[in-house]
Amino acid sequence: MINYFTDKMEKCWLCPKEFNSRTDLYNHVISKEHRRQSVYCPWCPTEKTFTRVTDLNKHCNSRHFVEVNCLPKMFLSLNNCFYFAVYPQDYARLIKPQLFESSIAMDARRIMMQWVEKQHFNPALRDNIRKGWKAGLQSRINELENGKEEKENKKRKREAEEVKPSTEVKEIYSNTITNDTKRPKHAFQTK
Ligand SMILES: [Zn+2]
Ligand SMILES: [Zn+2]
Repeated sequence: MINYFTDKMEKCWLCPKEFNSRTDLYNHVISKEHRRQSVYCPWCPTEKTFTRVTDLNKHCNSRHFVEVNCLPKMFLSLNNCFYFAVYPQDYARLIKPQLFESSIAMDARRIMMQWVEKQHFNPALRDNIRKGWKAGLQSRINELENGKEEKENKKRKREAEEVKPSTEVKEIYSNTITNDTKRPKHAFQTK
């Protein structure tokens, strides 16, 4: 019987490599091969990026202590750092973005936009970040919908298989037929 749950590999969307777990894929995507989960520091006046959110946390806790102290702890969570992502669309592939309407997400976007304004006001950067947020959130919605559909299909497939007669029943049935047809006519008469 096919196991629908364990034969799934985690494929990298940036190269042909495949991994056994999502964690392995994550470690690969953040590695120097891709560096696609990087985040900006939203407070440093010059552009500063970090490969891991934990590194951004360490940096902010020491360098931007005053700012961080005014914000909820979850502000620099993996989910909320989607709004500081250099590639939000890639980031959202592995990390679920913090809910768009939540207050920490709104604060993150506001702080990020303030940071962009300070970057010698680069409208292209601002537009790219906004587009990235939109694409990242949209791709997540699509993935959820596809996931639901896939689940439904698997369920239907399993149900269809359950309805089919088991092999044992089929074997007994086919043996009866072949034995009866192979049996010479007189065999019936002797009984
Ligand atoms: Zn790759
Ligand atoms: Zn900084």
